[in-house]
Amino acid sequence: VVEATVVYNKQVHHHFEVIVLLYDITEAWTVEQMQLNFVSNASHELRTPITAISGFAETLMNGAKNDPDKLDEFLRIIQKESRKLVRLADDILSISRTQSGGEQSLKIADCNLAALGQEEIKLLHRGIQLHQVEVSNQIPENVKVQTDAQQLGQIIKNLVANGIRYNRPHGHVKLSYEEVTNRWKLIVEDDGIGIAPEEQHKVFERFYRVNANKPGELVSGTGLGLPIVAESVKNLGGEIRLKSEPGKGSQFILTFPKEWKPSPEY
Ligand code: ADP
Repeated sequence: VVEATVVYNKQVHHHFEVIVLLYDITEAWTVEQMQLNFVSNASHELRTPITAISGFAETLMNGAKNDPDKLDEFLRIIQKESRKLVRLADDILSISRTQSGGEQSLKIADCNLAALGQEEIKLLHRGIQLHQVEVSNQIPENVKVQTDAQQLGQIIKNLVANGIRYNRPHGHVKLSYEEVTNRWKLIVEDDGIGIAPEEQHKVFERFYRVNANKPGELVSGTGLGLPIVAESVKNLGGEIRLKSEPGKGSQFILTFPKEWKPSPEY
């Protein structure tokens, strides 16, 4: 994408002498375009639960409240959609936080990785019970890493939560750690439903959900979990890779530098 500015324009005898400056604004244009897309997608996603809530409330007011079965069913839908709305609002806030200067507000300190993993697993106990999945923390107890514990905690929580939700009863989720020269790895893997090769890069796109519109889709979500994870991993100077096979399970491999350094652009 090019922007042009004429800086010199003069008639000399029978011709014109013109100087035009061309600027390559591709990067700024793409960023702006992405932001516009995000706002319009976000509004669309927010409208869906809001429309359901107001529609069912209106139907109840118009008389359906007198039918006990309908009253119960519609109130449940209203509650479910309200929860979805809260999750969407939280995720939209998280993504805008991680995006706008997420790196500047990092609090880097030594952190016990196994303890952090354990805390996040504990917070997920309701989902673990509901889906009857076993979560194991195989990070050695003495491992210390230099990171922002709050951001890494959120990353772990999102990935483990996905491992639990996109799984079958009695499935497994495992947290493990590996050391490499100058870097360390955190691996979150599950033996759940897996992700088809052609979907694997799309799951990192905002609002994308595999099978979101298929009937019988049981797991509800916002499609913002993995984009938030990817953004935070980048803020922490790391990289994320996904290996997955449908029906076998998924592996999210996070690689971070041992010594945290701010990236040169900041
Ligand atoms: P959400 O879970 O809210 O839909 P995410 O961004 O966390 O949003 O994930 C996007 C999609 O990727 C999910 O809808 C799901 O289809 C797929 N996905 C994510 N994690 C896993 C996993 N561990 N196993 C299988 N599918 C997954």
